[in-house]
Amino acid sequence: MDCLFCKIIAGEIPSQKVYEDQYMYAFKDINPQAPVHVLVIPKQHIPSLDGINEQNCGDIAMILKKIPEIAADLGLKNGYRLISNCGDDACQSVKHLHFHIIGGTLLSERMA
Ligand code: AMP
Ligand code: ZN
Repeated sequence: MDCLFCKIIAGEIPSQKVYEDQYMYAFKDINPQAPVHVLVIPKQHIPSLDGINEQNCGDIAMILKKIPEIAADLGLKNGYRLISNCGDDACQSVKHLHFHIIGGTLLSERMA
């Protein structure tokens, strides 16, 4: 499958790994929007939030359970924002579900 993030998981495209286990891979965003900007992706290819179903929701639960730990390891003691862009109106550019962890500074109050 011609998916950028599947290639990153496979090690075919380099990335700066932050965390990895059997369910997920976390790495630094190549174009950070804040001092800390990490992407967390499921190892299985799920196109977006809309692709979550009864078969794969266990992996998503493991990701959400792990994210506070990843954030703590990144030093985000004062909070962080978790974003998942889904579909064209949200400007989702990579069609492999991903969660942005953004922080390390006081973020804008605006969400959009
Ligand atoms: P989205 O716009 O929500 O689909 O987010 C895609 C994110 O992937 C953007 O923040 C990009 O900067 C990031 N990105 C694209 N290619 C790479 C890459 N090769 N390594 C790390 N991050 C990437
Ligand atoms: Zn993929």
